[in-house]
Amino acid sequence: MLKKTSHLMREANFIGGAWVGADSGATVEVVNPATRETIGTVPKCGQAEARRAIEAAENAFQSWKKTSANDRAVLLRRLHDAIMDNQDALAELLVMEQGKPLAEAKGEVGMSAAYVLWYAEESRRIYGDIVPSPWADRRILVTKEPIGVVGAITPWNFPSSMLARKIGPALAAGCTIVAKPASQTPYSGLAWGVLAQEAGIPDGVVNIITGSASAIGDELTENPLVRKITFTGSTEIGKLLMQKASGTVKKVSMELGGNAPFLVFDDADVDRAVAGAVAAKYRNSGQTCVCTNRFFVQDGIYDRFVEKLVEATGELKVGPGLDDGVQQGPLIDEGAVEKVEELLADATSKGARIAVGGKRHALGGSFFEPTVITDASPQMRIMEEEIFGPVAPIFRFSQEEEAVRMANDTSFGLACYFYTGDLGRAFRVMEGLKYGLVGVNEGVITTVEAPFGGLKESGLGKEGGYQGIDDYVDTKYVCIGGLGL
Ligand code: NAP
Repeated sequence: MLKKTSHLMREANFIGGAWVGADSGATVEVVNPATRETIGTVPKCGQAEARRAIEAAENAFQSWKKTSANDRAVLLRRLHDAIMDNQDALAELLVMEQGKPLAEAKGEVGMSAAYVLWYAEESRRIYGDIVPSPWADRRILVTKEPIGVVGAITPWNFPSSMLARKIGPALAAGCTIVAKPASQTPYSGLAWGVLAQEAGIPDGVVNIITGSASAIGDELTENPLVRKITFTGSTEIGKLLMQKASGTVKKVSMELGGNAPFLVFDDADVDRAVAGAVAAKYRNSGQTCVCTNRFFVQDGIYDRFVEKLVEATGELKVGPGLDDGVQQGPLIDEGAVEKVEELLADATSKGARIAVGGKRHALGGSFFEPTVITDASPQMRIMEEEIFGPVAPIFRFSQEEEAVRMANDTSFGLACYFYTGDLGRAFRVMEGLKYGLVGVNEGVITTVEAPFGGLKESGLGKEGGYQGIDDYVDTKYVCIGGLGL
């Protein structure tokens, strides 16, 4: 078990290379969701500390932007190595504050390292263009330059990798960053400060600050030194941040909520579909933005799919994330459990039937039984609201067009999944679904090499892939005239 004295668990903020407390000395408690015990505290910082962090980032930017791409790549590779050297301890820290099973936490930390390595490589490929000129004596250059200080705000469900997706491309592009992790899971975020120091990244390039979300968020969105806001979290807060960032016309990237549909057609491989469904539904106790929120299953395969999914769901082992073999941890807090209960009560009052689970787990606290409900219908709240818990609602359909229409009938557009053995249908449905990420016969598709991001109210911008760097650079057109050619 990780000790509080572990060098990775910091109860201080990281500003300009120094570990500091809040000006007022105020702190916020951090609770282990599996035991409800307090693990420690972190500073409750506000506007003044946020401003100092932005100024430190702006100072550091003046020299960081001039480093060569190769030098930045070397430092990012060292950051990758520092993460992997500490993978086990970082994963334990993550489980303690977030609750997910240890194997998932190790996977998340590995994914963080993978993003950093990917952007170490991409830093050397931020190409510009030389464009054919319409003038004989002038030349046209298009360059890519780091945008400046980046403000990053991240959620509690992936406290390590959501920061990796922002710190990686920001540093690769030559930007500096001020990051605010979620208050419920700040230690994985603060650990980025320790790792940055271990890797030899200059002071002020990475700054991590905890505390009042609105005070820090207001400073990040309103301070003119910050040139970009990158946010992962709810659509509601994302919209608020976009409004605030508009005052100084900052570039914004938004990774927001989802309402993923999972379609199973009659011609699908039912065992493969069930395995994909379990992974796409119950990972992180259903608390991911790409988790399936609605299953649509065709008449001919409905009974077989439901029977097998119910069986697989009933076998999932629930418990504290650090216990051996656990596949599902607690929900993040009591509020999350109440939201799941509310949505379940709404669904059952409108005709849904509970096939397995459906209530708090005997372990107590915020543990909830992995659940499947059948006979779901569009007038239920789960049709549009993110469940963010381990509940799989199953809708029945008969026609392909009907399934695609119901899948698209939402303001969200992040991830979707479908299972079919028919190639023509695969292309028709893939092209018909209005989503940023599509899994065809696959339930877990996130990887650093591919651009991750939503459409519609699920967000703007991409994280990962070569596209991920675009959000961190300014494109500049240079016209060189008078060449006398
Ligand atoms: P949230 O309530 O929006 O919080 C996310 C972050 O925003 C936290 O750091 C929070 O700080 C901060 N925040 C809250 N109010 C703020 C304000 N007024 N100004 C500035 N910052 C503010 O979301 P969550 O409940 O933590 O995360 C779950 C949501 O994230 C879900 O909707 C999920 O789908 C989405 N998500 C999306 C992606 C994606 O890539 N699209 C990935 C993961 C999660 P405090 O913690 O201090 O309140």
